[in-house]
Amino acid sequence: MKVGLFFGSFNPIHIGHLIIANTIVESAAVDKVWFVVSPQSPFKKKEDLAHEFDRLDMVRLAIAENPNFNVTDIEFSMPKPSFTVDTLTYLREKYPKNKFYLIIGEDNLRTFHKWKNHEEILKHHSLIVYPRPSGKDSNFEKPEGTIEVKAPLLDVSATFIRKSINQGKSVKYLLQEDVITYVRRKKLYQS
Ligand code: ATP
Repeated sequence: MKVGLFFGSFNPIHIGHLIIANTIVESAAVDKVWFVVSPQSPFKKKEDLAHEFDRLDMVRLAIAENPNFNVTDIEFSMPKPSFTVDTLTYLREKYPKNKFYLIIGEDNLRTFHKWKNHEEILKHHSLIVYPRPSGKDSNFEKPEGTIEVKAPLLDVSATFIRKSINQGKSVKYLLQEDVITYVRRKKLYQS
């Protein structure tokens, strides 16, 4: 099975993430997308970073109805901070029958050469790149085998959503309904 891996803090998971993931599955580049939730670093206390289990639960709720999506907490039990290269190695060992692709936005592709052991990553995995404006020139060279997926641009971020919640504004349509209920029930992002 071909699996696209979508790494993120998902604090919280929002419509931008879901649209990208769905577009990638529909492009037939992969059979499934797995959301890889990055844990809370024990060294860096980010003020507004919800607990890793809450972020995991919100991803579960958001993707519950989509059989093409899955979520993994694999990084929670790995030495922190976790590096993508190590997570990929672990996933290859655990699921030897799967072929894993790394999903990244065009903005992150620009700095991909600075990632730990990026050459090692490319030895085993192809990238799936989706458009994301970085404000800088976009003629960045894509590694061989990179799959480019045309996806709609949606200028929404978890930061914007957290701020809106904090200000008591409605985030209807930006978050999946069950995620909104969860945020309310757990009083997340209200400081
Ligand atoms: P924050 O605002 O807290 O930094 P975020 O919305 O960027 O969060 P992340 O969990 O960091 O969310 O996102 C995971 C991945 O999804 C990142 O690579 C990020 O660039 C990408 N991403 C986030 N929002 C969008 C969006 N609206 N469209 C496409 N990609 C997105």
